[in-house]
This record gives sequence, C-alpha cells and structure tokens, in this order.
Amino acid sequence: TPKLRFAPSPTGYLHLGGLRTALYNHLLARKLGGKWVLRIEDTDQTRYVEGAVESLLGTLKWAKLDFDEGPGVGGPNEPYFQSQRKDVYDRYLDPLIESGKAYHCFCTPERLAATRKRLQKEGSHEGYDRRCLGLSADEVKERLEKGERNIVRFKSSSGALEQEDLIYDAIHYESLPLEDFVLRKSDGLPTYHFANVVDDYEMGVTHVLRGEEWLPSTPKHLQLYDALGLPRPKFAHLPLLINPDGSKLSKRAGDVKVEDYIAKGYEPEALLNFVALMGWSPQSSSSSSSPSPTSAATDSFSAAAVAASNEEVLPLADLIAAFSLEGVNKNRATMQSAKLDFLNRAHLRLKLADTAPGGGRANVAERAREVVRGKWPELEESAEGKRLLEEEYLARVVDALKDRIHTLLDIPSLGAYFFHPPVYDSALATQLYKTVPPAVHALAALPSSAYTSPSAAEAPSVKDTLDELVLARPGGKRAAKEVMNPLRWALTGQKLDLTVREHATQVGAGVIDVVAVLGKEEVLRRIAAALA
Ligand code: GLU
Repeated sequence: TPKLRFAPSPTGYLHLGGLRTALYNHLLARKLGGKWVLRIEDTDQTRYVEGAVESLLGTLKWAKLDFDEGPGVGGPNEPYFQSQRKDVYDRYLDPLIESGKAYHCFCTPERLAATRKRLQKEGSHEGYDRRCLGLSADEVKERLEKGERNIVRFKSSSGALEQEDLIYDAIHYESLPLEDFVLRKSDGLPTYHFANVVDDYEMGVTHVLRGEEWLPSTPKHLQLYDALGLPRPKFAHLPLLINPDGSKLSKRAGDVKVEDYIAKGYEPEALLNFVALMGWSPQSSSSSSSPSPTSAATDSFSAAAVAASNEEVLPLADLIAAFSLEGVNKNRATMQSAKLDFLNRAHLRLKLADTAPGGGRANVAERAREVVRGKWPELEESAEGKRLLEEEYLARVVDALKDRIHTLLDIPSLGAYFFHPPVYDSALATQLYKTVPPAVHALAALPSSAYTSPSAAEAPSVKDTLDELVLARPGGKRAAKEVMNPLRWALTGQKLDLTVREHATQVGAGVIDVVAVLGKEEVLRRIAAALA
C-alpha cells in the first residue's frame, strides 16, 4: 500500500512551506488510499528547539491533518522520534562497516577543519582526505576498545546517478565525487541522511515528497539505498516558495510562521486551501471525476455545490479529491497574501451553510465563542450573556457579519452591538432621528417569528414592513435612509449614513440582519432605550 510521511526536524516553528509539505503528503496519501506517517527527525541535538514538537503537533491538530502513525498515535514502527531509534540505525550500519562500505574515522575536529580548508584551496569538492580509510582493522579495533572518539563515514563512490522525480521528471546527477559523508556522529546518533534512508525503508515509505531544498541530498540518499541493498522509494521534490520579490520564503521571516496565522484568526480550511494553491492548481477535468475516499462524509456539503463560481475554494475533502502531482507547478511559487482573506471569507460562508450537527456552522460558532468570550468574559456570568454564547446566536452573528469580517477576530470590533446594547448620544438623537417612532409601531406589531426568520414566507416580514414604511414617506424610495439610518442607530449605536462612502465601509451588518439576530424583544428594548 502507498505510504507517505512528513518528517520535520524540530529546529524551529512550522512555517507555511512546511505546512505545504505536510499537506501535499497528506493529500497524496489520502488520494491514493494509503497511509501517512509523522516522523520527528531529531538526531541533531544541537539544533533542537524547545517546544517545537508540541507546537508542530498542535498545528497539525488545528489544521485537522490527521496522521495514521506517529507520536501520540502509535503504529508498527514505534518510536517515531529518531533520537529514540539508535538501535535500528546501528543494525543497518554494522553490516556496512563490516563490508567496507562505511568506516570509522578518528580525526579530530581541528584536523578536519584544517583538511577541509586545504582541500578547498586545492579546488577539490571533497571535504575529507580519507585518512582513516587506510587504517588497519586491528588499529580500528584497538582505538575503539580504548573508547576513542569517532564517527562513521560512508565510502562514497563517484558514478553518475539517475533519479526519476515525479515532479521534475528525470534528474541526472553528474559523476561528482561525493565527500565521504558522515553516517553516525560522535554522540552515537545517526546523521539526517542515514536515519532518513533507514527509516523510509523501515517504515515502508513508498513516496518521498519533500521540498526542493533537499534535492542536493538526494544523491547521497540514492547511494545509501544502493549500498544497503534497499529498494529506492519514488521521489517528488516540491518547488520552493518565494516572496513576490523573488526572495526565499524563510522560516526565519516572522510572517510565515503558521502559528501567526492561527493567531490572526484564519479558518484552518482557508489556510490549508491557501497553502495548497501555492504551487498547485486543480486540474479541472480530474477534480470532478475522481471521488475521494473520504468524500462520502462530506457529500451533503460540497464546495462545488455552494461555490460553483469559484473552482479554487476547496475544503480538505475536495482538495483530496482534486489533488495530483501533475497539478504541481515546476516553477517556484509566490505567496499571494491577498488570496488568503478572500479564501477565509469563502470558507466562512461554506461552513455556515453546513448545518449538520457538529458540522461547519457549529464549528464556526465554537470558534466565534472563543473570540467573544475572550473579549467579554463577563458574558459567562449572566443568563442573558450565556444565551449570547449559544451556538445558534453566534452562528447568526457571523452570518450577519460574513461579508465584512476578514476573520472571526473582527467580531468584537465590527459586531460589538450584538453582545452589548449601544450607548446613545441623546442630544443628537432627538434632532436626527425623528422617524424612529413609526418604525417602532410597525415593528412592534410583527410577531416574534417574523424576526428570527426574516426571509421566511410568513407575511408580513420585517423587510416588507420596513419597505412599506419607507414608501409611505414623502420621498418614497429615496427616503430609505430616513428610516434605515435611525433604525441602525437605535439598534447598533452606529450613526451612519450609507450614502456617505466612508460610512458604508464601516458597517458591520445590514439592518435587516441585525434585526433578525437580535430578535423582537431586544429590538423593541433598544428602540425604546434610544428614544428615552
Ligand atoms: N527532516 C527533514 C526536514 O526537516 C526532512 C527532509 C525529508 O523529507 O527527507 O525537512
């Protein structure tokens, strides 16, 4: 069965490029009906960053990229931390040493540094002069018994290598002499190269899907597979992500940390969608005709059904269905941040439309609750406040605001009035808003049900009622603002005139939507308070 893996080193926080690698591996594994493994490549203890593993696991969980084997999940190849798998690597290393394909090296770091410098001056590509390759078996044995500090090197050959790459097609490596690279360090742990190859074989990995930056390591890995007599997996190297100015998107640049995007309130579905589109695009013909193994669970909620106009808005299940390596662009991908805000709103809309229990709408409400509760913890303390934290209320609030907010974090600034009655400026009130009273009478005459489902067929609706009021005024249609502005003011505290451009952009939600969310009782209470 196909098996893919994500093999991060805990040397920093996950950045967008890393998330993309994880995602593509996940998508291909699911698409092929195979397994997906998470393996922590932590054999370089000097580069270990405290908390990086926890942060990584938290991020994958947030993104709902579930793996089949790995830390916390278990699996047939436990443990999934390379630092705990020393025995496995030694089992593969010993025969290499016995057969002369690898050898012990006792050179001091000082000698190695000097040698490297000398060789470089002489124009050699090799960094090591193979001094220890010539040691006799007896001498090696003796020095090992004395406990002398040593490393194990691979005896590289220099034949040309061919590699089929699923993205770059055939890659030909010239017969450059490779340095006798290190397989086991003096601390007894393997290097990345050795552990990576052994584990990919041990864990049954069939496809190695990783960033372009690992391409220079591939000849080493190919040699190792051959020396160990192991079959090579298929390789696919992903083009780098770059900034619009062409510079490399680095994990050191603060703005590419996945955690920062989480903190900014983006929907996980939107961020995954955004990351997926960096260097990949759905092949329109294959996307609709190839059902994904998991699509059954989301049948009632297909992106194609809700957002047919935009082929690129794809929740995870649809990404799986549409994914293929043929759709990966061979050119380096630039990051287009503006797309993320668009995708976030699109995904909010999709999720709100998914009303199944525990579905997207419930998830949005849950996420909105975190935001609202964080902003106004006191809501928890009263029965009325608690009602405003209920799923249905919160989902309606987001529904009303969905065309204005970038992320759910905008709820407190754009929709504060959904959680706290406005404070009015009464001097202005009487002067500007003489037209509210007729609206009060009309709205008071409507049944409560007309509020909570303003679009329902039951006549008269809130909208019809307000339309009638408007038409009854001397200006007719043009008098809309004479009714709507004071009403908006009474309900939200916002003194806005929508015919003024700058005002229009400040509006959180439409008046009718606000009426619907607040409900009859609260609407009448606020109007009364505004006029008091
Ligand atoms: N540990 C490497 C990394 O941090 C994995 C490279 C690979 O996938 O082979 O990305």
